[in-house]
Amino acid sequence: MDLRCRDDQLAVRDAVRAFVRERIWPRASGWSEAGEFPIALLPELAGMGLTGLTVPTDQGGSGLDALTTALVAEELGAGDGSIALTLAAHNSLCIGHLLVAASAEQKQRWLPPLARGEHLGAWALTEPGAGSDAVSSKTTARRDGAGWVLNGQKQFITNGSIAKLIVVIAATADRRLTAFGVRSDQPGFRAGPGEKKMGLWASDTAPLVLEDCRISDADRIGELGAAFGDVRKVLDRGRIGIGALAIGLGRAALETATAYAKERRQFGKALSEFQMIQWKLATARTELDAGRLLIHRAAGLADAGKPFTREASMGKLYATEAASRAANAALQVLGGYGYLRDHPVERIVRDARLMEIGEGTSEIQRIVIARDLVLAS
Ligand SMILES: Cc1cc2nc3c(=O)[nH]c(=O)nc-3n(C[C@H](O)[C@H](O)[C@H](O)COP(=O)(O)OP(=O)(O)OC[C@H]3O[C@@H](n4cnc5c(N)ncnc54)[C@H](O)[C@@H]3O)c2cc1C
Repeated sequence: MDLRCRDDQLAVRDAVRAFVRERIWPRASGWSEAGEFPIALLPELAGMGLTGLTVPTDQGGSGLDALTTALVAEELGAGDGSIALTLAAHNSLCIGHLLVAASAEQKQRWLPPLARGEHLGAWALTEPGAGSDAVSSKTTARRDGAGWVLNGQKQFITNGSIAKLIVVIAATADRRLTAFGVRSDQPGFRAGPGEKKMGLWASDTAPLVLEDCRISDADRIGELGAAFGDVRKVLDRGRIGIGALAIGLGRAALETATAYAKERRQFGKALSEFQMIQWKLATARTELDAGRLLIHRAAGLADAGKPFTREASMGKLYATEAASRAANAALQVLGGYGYLRDHPVERIVRDARLMEIGEGTSEIQRIVIARDLVLAS
């Protein structure tokens, strides 16, 4: 399989890299300390085409393929985990679900404003009692005349209290899952307060409550009872994005540590002259490159219209764990300075940890990979 990127894909990556270096990376620490998503940044992100990455161009989006989207996700991760995760939930999950399952009328109604960054989207699958076992959702959607009445709670929803359109997964008859497009101003919907997290402080994570929330049948997304299949398709692509984002986080930590190791002197030498330091940097670089190759393989298969579930899980599993190892190694190279709160590597270590949990934990990725192996043999 050819893993080289085309020139047009690299041009998009380079444009986003330049934007991130100038407008995201220098401000990330301030946003983190402020502890909330900088909503004023949204028009700037939209101006770069980052709020409609995969939306077709005739609906106001950037119309990018999976590989280019992964290149962009890595650059965003290299700039700031919180901004990257906010956009991942918006693009891969909310918009991703609409692209998989929404009707032509719903796409025309919902996608253009999301792509233009007029507001953010969110995607609500997880519940207090249904995390990895998402199919055991307790949120219900009951038929009521021409519409539906939703009741239940969602947990850990990225953009939950700042999104205006939330794709909510609920159980309909026979406990089968169905998706609904819920507006945040709909009576019976409320979000928050935002969770206090270990990292990703500028990314909003909130619980949602649906109490007799009435939804028109025109806002039901996809076939009745068919959302679990759609969720799996959304997560397959989402995992490519989270893996790429993680590689970006690891890369930023490694670049910071490499520059520091060349400057910092101990025992009359630069740290970069010590073999143990070189070893850490070399291992991190090798593992991050390996993770990126796995992610690009999965994206390439997706773009070729071939099955990629196992490859997406392999990429997400390896890339996210490699990113955490790289970030921790980078912190070690910085010694005590790496542990200081105003240093980017400290933030990256905390941000990277989530990538091993969100959109399916490492354990769940191993289950997906093993299931495929056992079935194939
Ligand atoms: C910051 C953040 C943002 C998030 N954003 C979103 C979002 O936008 N939308 C959304 O729907 N969800 C979101 N989530 C939820 C996330 O996807 C879940 O946290 C994740 O899927 C794990 O579910 P859980 O936390 O309930 O853990 P659990 O499922 O309770 O798992 C706990 C532990 O048990 C392990 N485990 C579970 N089942 C098995 C098994 N069969 N075999 C072996 N080990 C197992 C898990 O791997 C984990 O280590 C977010 C979470 C966080 C923290």
